[in-house]
Amino acid sequence: MDLACQLLDCLPLGVVITDGQGIVRCCNQLMTDYYRLPSAPMTGTLIYDCWPGLHPTWLRDQSGGWLRLTDPHSHNWCRFRVKVRQCPVEVTPDLPPQYVWSFQAEDSGDLEQVQKNFISTVSHELRTPLTSIKGFIDTLLTAQTRLSPDQVSHFLDVIKAQVDQLSQVIEAILTVSSIQSGTLKNQPQLLTLTEILPDLVNHLSLRYDPGRIRVDVAPDLPLLQVDYDRLLQILIHLLDNALKYSATDAPVSLRAWATVSDSQTPHVCIAIEDQGIGIPNAALERMFQQFGRLGSPWNRQHPGTGLGLYITKLLVDSLGGQITVASQLHHGSIFTLEFPGQISPVPIPSSL
Ligand code: ADP
Repeated sequence: MDLACQLLDCLPLGVVITDGQGIVRCCNQLMTDYYRLPSAPMTGTLIYDCWPGLHPTWLRDQSGGWLRLTDPHSHNWCRFRVKVRQCPVEVTPDLPPQYVWSFQAEDSGDLEQVQKNFISTVSHELRTPLTSIKGFIDTLLTAQTRLSPDQVSHFLDVIKAQVDQLSQVIEAILTVSSIQSGTLKNQPQLLTLTEILPDLVNHLSLRYDPGRIRVDVAPDLPLLQVDYDRLLQILIHLLDNALKYSATDAPVSLRAWATVSDSQTPHVCIAIEDQGIGIPNAALERMFQQFGRLGSPWNRQHPGTGLGLYITKLLVDSLGGQITVASQLHHGSIFTLEFPGQISPVPIPSSL
C-alpha cells in the first residue's frame, strides 16, 4: 500500500482510499497538505470525519457528489467533483474491497465567470426595485400637496411591494452565499418522508388552501438519511411554486415511491406535480440556473426572486440527491427528486 500511496502523490487530483465502511486506508499529498485537515494522520479514521460534507451514501451506491473545500493559505474556496469507485484491482487477495475517492477541482476559469455573471445579475436585480422605490419617493416628496390620499396610499403600496421584493432577493442571495461558502451545515438524520409531511402542509397552509395538496406516499418507502430542515426547505419551495404557478383552485400532488438505482441500492423518488401554466421546452434547461425567471405575464403578477430553484438544486446536491423537471406548456409541470434510501428496519406508517 505504501508504494501505491507514493504513486498517488504524483497525481494532479486528490485521492483517498477507504474500505467499505469509509475508514481511510491511505490518502495522497494533495488531500493531506492542502485542504484544512488535522495534522494527525487520517489513516484509520472515517473519511466523513476528515472531510465533513462527504456522504456515506456516495460510497454505498458509488454515486459521488460535490464538496466545497477551502484553501488554508488564500482562504478561497473551491468546488470539487467527488467520485467513488471500487478499486479495479485486488491489492492483496485477503484484503476486503477498497474504494477510491477522487477529488477533481472545478475549473477555476469557469468558477470566476460564474461569479462575475452572478454579481452582474444580482446588481441588476437589486437596481430594478431600487430605481422604482426612488422614483415613487421622489414623486411623493415633490408632488405631495397635489396628490390625493388614494394616490399617496397607492404609491406607498407600490414602495412596500418593491421593498418586500428587495428583501426577498437579499435573503436568497445570503442563502446562496452560505451554501457556497459551506457555512450552511447539513445534519443528516434517519427519517421517513411521512415525518416531514405535517410540517410541510402546515407551512403551505399559511398561504394556500391545504385542500389543494394531494399526498400519495407508498407504504414501503426506504428511510432517508438527510438533514430534516434542508429536505423540508426543498419540498416547501417546489410545492410553493406548483401552487403559485397554477390556478388558485387547481390541485397539486406530492407522490413518493421506492425505486432501485443501477447499482441495486434503494432510492426514494418524490414527484411534485401541478396542472399549472407549464414551462416552455426551450426554457427547461435554464430552470435551475440563477435568476431563471420567465418573462410571462403570470410571472409579472406573481413576484419571486428567480433564485428559488437554483437554491433548491444546491440543497438537493448537498443531500446527495438529484432533481429533474418535465413540463408541458399550459398543462403543468412535474419536478422529480431522487435520494439514496436506507432499507427500513421497522414498518413505516403510510399516512399523515
Ligand atoms: P421564482 O419562483 O421566485 O421566480 P424559482 O427559481 O423558484 O424562482 O423559479 C424560476 C422560474 O421557473 C419561475 O419564475 C417560473 O417562471 C418557473 N417555474 C418554477 N416552477 C414552476 C412551475 N411549477 N410551473 C411553471 N413555472 C415554474
